[in-house]
Amino acid sequence: GWLGAGLLIGGCFAFLVIRSARYRLSIEGELEAAIRRREIAVQYQPIVELATRRCVGAEALARWHHRGTAISPDIFIELAERHGLIQSITDLVLDRVIAELGGFLRSHPDCYVSINVSAVDLTSRRFLDYLGQRLNGTGIEPAQIRIEATERGFVDAQAAVQVIQAFREAGHPVYIDDFGTGYSSLSYLQTLPVDALKIDKSFVDTIGYEAASSSVAPHIIGLAQTLGLDVVAEGVEHEEQAAYLYESGARFAQGWLFSPALSAEAFMRFVEAGPPGSVTARSTGTGKP
Ligand code: C2E
Ligand code: MG
Ligand code: MG
Ligand code: MG
Repeated sequence: GWLGAGLLIGGCFAFLVIRSARYRLSIEGELEAAIRRREIAVQYQPIVELATRRCVGAEALARWHHRGTAISPDIFIELAERHGLIQSITDLVLDRVIAELGGFLRSHPDCYVSINVSAVDLTSRRFLDYLGQRLNGTGIEPAQIRIEATERGFVDAQAAVQVIQAFREAGHPVYIDDFGTGYSSLSYLQTLPVDALKIDKSFVDTIGYEAASSSVAPHIIGLAQTLGLDVVAEGVEHEEQAAYLYESGARFAQGWLFSPALSAEAFMRFVEAGPPGSVTARSTGTGKP
């Protein structure tokens, strides 16, 4: 009767309340709240030209400080991907880049920031459209915002190729991130319209520890050269690695040898300071080289 129906409705209600409370208390609920409160920060890791050590740009890396601890992006990005939150993070990172470095990019037209996108960002033009709207009227050139996509991002290969092509047509260079860690690299590389490969840190780590002949890095660089693509080596920690990569033909690199990821302010200072040992216009005050 009525009592049974009342209990049933009450039960459902209690269930929903408990479920939503659980969600709020769960780590994904906390991540969602952090995104809503815009508590995801961004750090910038300088990317340098190996020949000159000049800083050419930075990779934007998302940061989440949760209850006083830094959660690794490897954990919260995966969490965000699983719970449908990643597109909000991609947007938030872009918003921060524009807010924190917009003026700097306008006055440094040769400098760029690359943004990591996830598989879902490559299934439609949604992020590209958002990017276009956000850049409109800022004076930032499209080539100053670059896109890093991992091979994991090519789950729907046909859609990804189209979206990547659309980014490039809009003037945003596209990089394959963590190159070599995916599984079908070679087969799709020929058909994939990209501008550069980022050599995964795992191929840089082995340099100097194994016989040079067993290093895969020069082969990836050779492949990139054959295809007319630029190369950025990631995770460079030692001078020997930088020298070996440079001799093998890599033009660009990032890693703790040059700089860890920095706050926006520290990144701007890093660019203004110029390569180590250089005398910048700022420090001489003459404006002459
Ligand atoms: P990734 O895109 O390959 O980024 C490079 C990672 O290597 C960063 O780790 C960086 O801090 C680290 N790294 C750079 N140089 C060195 C070095 O010399 N030694 C060592 N040991 N590590 C170095 P991080 O910041 O922990 O990011 C991990 C991954 O999380 C990134 O790998 C990227 O795949 C993902 N990620 C970070 N931010 C975002 C984001 O905004 N969106 C998306 N979709 N993914 C992101
Ligand atoms: Mg990356
Ligand atoms: Mg990478
Ligand atoms: Mg990596």
